[in-house]
Amino acid sequence: MLRTNMKRYNAPMSTVLVNPEYYGVFKELLNESGMMRINPANINKLNIMPDYIEGLLNVFRDSIEQEFIHNVRVLVQWDNGKCCKFNLFDLYFNLVMWKMLVDLDATIQPYNIFIDKNITGDTIKNWIDTNVIDVFLDKVDPLTLNRTIYHSYKHLQGVDEFALYLANTFNYFDFVGLDKLDMEAHKILDNEYSAEHTYKNVAIEDAQDVGMEETKKLINIITERSKDILGYDHCCAAALRSQAGISERQFKEFAVNIGPKPDGLGGIYPHLINTSFLDKGLDSLESMFVESASAGRYAQIIAKTNVANSGAFARILGLNNIDTDLHADPNYVCNTKNFVKMTINTPKIFKKFIGRWFKWSEDDPEDHCIGRKDFTLIAGKTIYLRDPMTCQSKTMGDGICFRCYGKLAYINRYVNIGKLAAEILSAILTQRFLSAKHILSAKPIKVVFGDDFAKYFQNEEYLLSISDELESTKKIYIKINLDDIDQSQDTNEEADDDDDSSFMSESLTEFIVEDNGIEYNMHSNNYDSLTFTSEFVEIIHKHKTTTNDEGAEIVVVPFSELVGIPLFAVPLANSELSKSLTEVKHIINFRNKTSGFDKDTILQAFMEALDNGGLGVHSSHASVILSNMIRRKEEVLETPDWSIPNQDDYQIITVSSALKYNPSTTVTLMYQGLRRTLINPITYRKRKPSKIDSYFMDAPQNIGKDSAFTKQTNKSELTMEDMFRRVEEKKPQPKVIQFNEMFRPKE
Ligand SMILES: [Zn+2]
Repeated sequence: MLRTNMKRYNAPMSTVLVNPEYYGVFKELLNESGMMRINPANINKLNIMPDYIEGLLNVFRDSIEQEFIHNVRVLVQWDNGKCCKFNLFDLYFNLVMWKMLVDLDATIQPYNIFIDKNITGDTIKNWIDTNVIDVFLDKVDPLTLNRTIYHSYKHLQGVDEFALYLANTFNYFDFVGLDKLDMEAHKILDNEYSAEHTYKNVAIEDAQDVGMEETKKLINIITERSKDILGYDHCCAAALRSQAGISERQFKEFAVNIGPKPDGLGGIYPHLINTSFLDKGLDSLESMFVESASAGRYAQIIAKTNVANSGAFARILGLNNIDTDLHADPNYVCNTKNFVKMTINTPKIFKKFIGRWFKWSEDDPEDHCIGRKDFTLIAGKTIYLRDPMTCQSKTMGDGICFRCYGKLAYINRYVNIGKLAAEILSAILTQRFLSAKHILSAKPIKVVFGDDFAKYFQNEEYLLSISDELESTKKIYIKINLDDIDQSQDTNEEADDDDDSSFMSESLTEFIVEDNGIEYNMHSNNYDSLTFTSEFVEIIHKHKTTTNDEGAEIVVVPFSELVGIPLFAVPLANSELSKSLTEVKHIINFRNKTSGFDKDTILQAFMEALDNGGLGVHSSHASVILSNMIRRKEEVLETPDWSIPNQDDYQIITVSSALKYNPSTTVTLMYQGLRRTLINPITYRKRKPSKIDSYFMDAPQNIGKDSAFTKQTNKSELTMEDMFRRVEEKKPQPKVIQFNEMFRPKE
């Protein structure tokens, strides 16, 4: 590995920079003594690549390892006298970023300087957000903007060429150096020492947290002080500073302590591994077993069930949001009189509202846009958001207006915003549910049932069955509402159908036990999902369904038929993280929870749950998903009229109900329970088209072109007259030629 501090060259510039014809403006480096000047006014879209970016790259190609190149400073001076001194490497980053500006015909200003102690994905994104996207969003076509950003941004990869020189690898010598030269590092790194004197004398439940604390201390030593201790930066310093490439958790196991390990069955092994991989490693048979032998397989099984579950969720979410569009005219503002009350408390949630429009009170005549720096302005205050949920233009069937969607509309105007919202949410949900690393975090919690539950059921080896201690099964029934059943298919096509271990596909979170006429709700304390066993499914299929007062279909099975039969499987492990993810799902798709919200509380709760689960979803997407779950109270197929002030004829229904009561027959048919859909009377009252009806499908169109056909299909209902009118509109009109046109001389 090459190190800049290992060898020092003092060759004069002129003996190394031998190809001045390739250096663009930087050939000046040869003429003056280590100092050159650039005026940003001279940089334009024609010369920035050949003269500046390529020129500088060629300088690096010839001499990146030379000390004088590290020390060269370039003075960037604006016409108004403002100036800044750059080293060549910072200048390269700035030129790449400035390329976006000159490509968009803007001039480079002093406030466009791109500089940060650590350049990370976040700092790059922030610069692009504030200097390019915020400025050009509503002035430049999003496709052009996208292309411009990409064409500049990809030049950051220019550094790849020097990877061998910049190479950063693990060097144990650096860790040994820290251990020998710094007492604080020694206490953390040396296992023999720490086992006796410090943090390793803790109870097994605390070992994870304490280890993490020590890891943070070690990271701080490496990033802040390693240069003073070792004389050069520790090999991990750059990666740890940029918070990219090294996971803190894995770094803990590598350098501090491996800690407690989950057993994959909801608990942790009663064996604490106090060593780290760096010092002593797995030094006993117990440690080897606990660390590597067992939990991995459970992780795979859990991941597979979770993927099947969230795959099904992704499908219904996508289906329910498929017919949501933006209004064709970016300047149209709908006449809604209803807004969504919201209080933003944390900067993280605030970020998800940038670009949204709000009012200070319901009768505030102005809409204000939430800007990037407005956190202190609105933090803790109640604001009235314009929101897709209450967009009158959406109710009219014209698509959500740009004002209610927020400025993100300019970026998403050519895509299906409903599908996009569903994809964004379900993609990260699936990713998180799938990640066995999260599921098998060392703090699993058990699925807990209440006393009522224990009276009727027992939980043996994660299978629920009727309790052996129940004295009589007379007049006791299980009642299951068919609407509560979640269907999920294992979409893995490679799976063998006759495989005994194939995954059960139906689950629910709650059901009713009727005991001598009294009904009890049965669920776990956290409403965990319970999967039906195939034995129970077989019995259910033998029973006919009945309809209750609310029109829901219920299946009733007497307890006497169920004695000794496993009924439900309980999820194996449920970490704190997957708990918050489940909360996200429950807010939008669990009847008891969803129906308890109103338009103001559901967005607040949804955004907070997403934030707790670490899911970065912009509020525009969240609101689009919620907007497709809002219907009139009396007429569940219709959306409320939001132009009436204080509209309260609305209800919030779950994604599953929204599909069952979807105004398009085709969408409902694609959902689930085909047989039930076909005999359900409401199916025959549905008359709205969907994008997936091939008859109403959008015609191919030029992006950005106002297409009459597209607009027509977005209207709420198509009547026969509409269709005839469309045919008429398409008929070519006879051409009438005016006399003066005929005699006009040809150009
Ligand atoms: Zn609107």
